[in-house]
Amino acid sequence: MKKYFVIGKPIDHSLSPKIHNYWIKQNKIEAIYYKKELDETDLREFIAMIRDKKIDGANVTIPFKKKVIPFLDVLSKEADQTQSVNTIYFDKGNLIGHNTDIIGFEQAIKATNFEIINKKIFILGAGGVVPSIIFALKKMNVSEIFVSNRTRKKAEDLKNYFNKINIVNWGDVPEFDVIINATSIGLKGEDKLHLDYSNLGKNKLFYDVIYNPSFTNFLKQGSNLGNKSENGKLMFIYQASAAFELWHGIKPKLNDEVFSLLSL
Ligand code: NDP
Repeated sequence: MKKYFVIGKPIDHSLSPKIHNYWIKQNKIEAIYYKKELDETDLREFIAMIRDKKIDGANVTIPFKKKVIPFLDVLSKEADQTQSVNTIYFDKGNLIGHNTDIIGFEQAIKATNFEIINKKIFILGAGGVVPSIIFALKKMNVSEIFVSNRTRKKAEDLKNYFNKINIVNWGDVPEFDVIINATSIGLKGEDKLHLDYSNLGKNKLFYDVIYNPSFTNFLKQGSNLGNKSENGKLMFIYQASAAFELWHGIKPKLNDEVFSLLSL
């Protein structure tokens, strides 16, 4: 029986086991996918178990996406450029770290049918997921990227990875076509971003990486102002799907049941 894990701290909230175990069953694969809370000091030993083939692969979530890197042999281009690993597998004697958040975000944006080429993008937040979002946006040939974060230094630090981004003061709103909430504001139902959209036209895209709750105050506000809105559910499903394909060589089916697994 093959064994897969998602590791993080905290990990209780993770829906990865639900979705992976569903696909494992659907494809009649002899495997189980578990979640495991680790401390940073456990990482070396855990990853050594993948090298020893006691574990067949792992997803990595907050706060370890960067911290696992020293224990890996090879990084994909995506993981290297974003310094963020969410999927680990063992291939031809190498422990490989990959980042499927990028393809997850890219496919989710494409699924909105919102034309993104040459558009101005405004990102709120500069945490772990933001380098993946910027990498995907650059690949999709957007015209300009603005980033605003409560802790400005963290937004400035992103320039070490991506030189052509513009930093905006927290609370200011530049002209944009797409606004992305990549903060954790909204995870609690009452959470609110206090931004002034009074100069905003219509037909923008409000995208929230949060998917639970599915309709955050940020999305409600965008929608009430006459804009398109989308949550992060598809991003999550597509990143899981890409990891599943890497490990099992099968592209899993995305059906209504998969969506309902993530409706809490
Ligand atoms: P991090 O903890 O690395 O970053 C959190 C971000 O939120 C930082 O920019 C932080 O700002 C900001 N923030 C938190 N609290 C506040 C506040 N009260 N006021 C202003 N800013 C605040 O998290 P991640 O980047 O890993 O994840 C961010 C979000 O994306 C989470 O909600 C997560 O669930 C979601 N996510 C969704 C995915 C999906 O597949 N849909 C994939 C990955 C993440 P500061 O730097 O100032 O602390």
